Amino acid sequence: MKHKEKPQTIKCPYCGRTAVLRKASDIYAKALDEYLYVCSGYPECNSYVGVHAGTLRPKGTLANGDLRHKRIEAHRIFDAIWKHKIMSKQNAYRWMQDIFSLSSKQAHIAQFSEYRCDCLILECRKVLHNNNITLA
Ligand SMILES: [Zn+2]
Repeated sequence: MKHKEKPQTIKCPYCGRTAVLRKASDIYAKALDEYLYVCSGYPECNSYVGVHAGTLRPKGTLANGDLRHKRIEAHRIFDAIWKHKIMSKQNAYRWMQDIFSLSSKQAHIAQFSEYRCDCLILECRKVLHNNNITLA
């Protein structure tokens, strides 16, 4: 994999150490041709974030296990809104921007805190409920 860009310097929000770029296959059991920014205190500090495909740009902030889990859950519920065609994907992101007063750059679940994920999950549940959609 060739990269013209340099890795970014990002700090772990949990312990303050610098994150290092590592192959995802170092962290996950399944080998992925992908990179992660991993806290240099890993695995003692279990915090990392993926990059946008084919780039060295982090998808968001480093996240520990709880936050990663919450972001996955928030994504699942949010994606259900456009997958069930309640809104187009574009409109769903605009709706998310409106709720939290975010720019389009900030409207990414990978940048959300646990608190914001909880708020999004709540709002998405209302929308799904109002459209008589129950998630498995
Ligand atoms: Zn850390």
